[in-house]
Amino acid sequence: MRILVTGGAGFIGSNLCERLLASGHEVLCMDNFYTGSKNNIREYLNNPSFEVIRRDISEPFVIEADFIINLACPASVPHYQKDPLKTMKDNVFGIFNVLENARRLKIPVLHTSTSEVYGSPAVHPQPETYNGNVNPVSIRSCYDEGKRAAETILSDYNRQYGVDIKVIRVFNTYGPRMLENDGRAVSNFIVQSLKGEDLTVYGDGKQTRSFCYISDLIDGIILFMEDKSGFTGPVNMGNNYEFTIVDFAKLVLSITGSKSKLKFVELPKDDPIQRDPDLTLAKKMLGYNPKVGVEEGLKKTIEYFKKTIKY
Ligand code: UDP
Repeated sequence: MRILVTGGAGFIGSNLCERLLASGHEVLCMDNFYTGSKNNIREYLNNPSFEVIRRDISEPFVIEADFIINLACPASVPHYQKDPLKTMKDNVFGIFNVLENARRLKIPVLHTSTSEVYGSPAVHPQPETYNGNVNPVSIRSCYDEGKRAAETILSDYNRQYGVDIKVIRVFNTYGPRMLENDGRAVSNFIVQSLKGEDLTVYGDGKQTRSFCYISDLIDGIILFMEDKSGFTGPVNMGNNYEFTIVDFAKLVLSITGSKSKLKFVELPKDDPIQRDPDLTLAKKMLGYNPKVGVEEGLKKTIEYFKKTIKY
């Protein structure tokens, strides 16, 4: 197939492009390079099955493809909060632009939504049937509510125009090609450990997150892409390695062998206190079964940062 991957030069996007090319697909990688990086895709530029399109998803575009995978949106907290109105446009205008192509071409769209649609969840772990606890006017809303609106727009294109949709709610994912300056817990803690800087634990560090290694998420995306059952989701994908953030920081310190210390700093506003995916539906509908242990995944990610950052 010829597959359009929007956000194809980002962390998840470039890992997905690599997998799709290895499986014999033709890949159109669309990116505005706001948080995507040319370094992530440099090794595919000479591959005749790989094409790069520099374009902003929030502006209308016309493409020819057999399948669309929509990943385009700044996804780390500092990046999506830098220009919140743009983040909202990427989510809302972006999905309209994607879906208009899908409607014209009569092709499916696989969309990556987020665990952020659950907000600061009162139900734990979070099943897809939980409607969430989201503040519409918080500094996280441009992302949370933007992603929720995108899910609504996808559902209505499916009901109104019969567009074939597949919606994944992605939980915290990490691995090679994360940005050094992404501001996420995983990248910050690894980079700080390698540089011998204090690890910045936000708040008391008792908030929890569950971390998924990138190859497991890519496996899930491919399973859903290839699924012919008509299942539309939304479906959670991630892993159940749930840690308090302070314990996770200590794990990174022990694996890196770093002498860095923990530094407790102010908790960002509206930071969700717990997050862990209920993966029952993904297992049942798609046979999704993440395999990579957190220590193994962290070691690979640490190796990547050792090679790519100056420290
Ligand atoms: N966090 C932290 N120190 C950091 C970066 C993040 O303690 O340097 C915390 C953050 O407050 C949140 C958790 O780690 O509770 C995960 O943050 P991240 O930005 O990785 O993902 P998200 O908040 O989107 O789940």
